[in-house]
Amino acid sequence: MAINHLKTAKNTLKMTKTCPECGDRIVGRSDKKFCSDACRNSHNNRLNSDSRKLVRNINNKLRKNYRILERLNPDEKTTTPKTKLQDAGFDFNHFTSIYTTKAGTVYYFVYNQGYLPIEGDFYALVKRN
Ligand SMILES: [Zn+2]
Repeated sequence: MAINHLKTAKNTLKMTKTCPECGDRIVGRSDKKFCSDACRNSHNNRLNSDSRKLVRNINNKLRKNYRILERLNPDEKTTTPKTKLQDAGFDFNHFTSIYTTKAGTVYYFVYNQGYLPIEGDFYALVKRN
């Protein structure tokens, strides 16, 4: 009896939840998260489109970085002043992988195009095949 009573109280509490999409009170099953299918759908669509946007923005940054490296490094190995990368709009915070040599030198890669800060505000550019 006591347990049933607790269960009922718990369900009653849960039933006062509100819909995260429209703020309406949720009526019905205690595990319902939204007031309606429409709200669940529009909530999920919005979440998906935000994460799609995020992925698209980062992909665009990576693509731009890749094009800049390709253009500045046509012979697969060169050095370039940092300002040249900056002027082209290179974003140093976006890369796809890091390669650390045994000596501890860290190369940053955008796909197969790598860059490495060297002395005098220059960058070494390398292409990995
Ligand atoms: Zn709703």
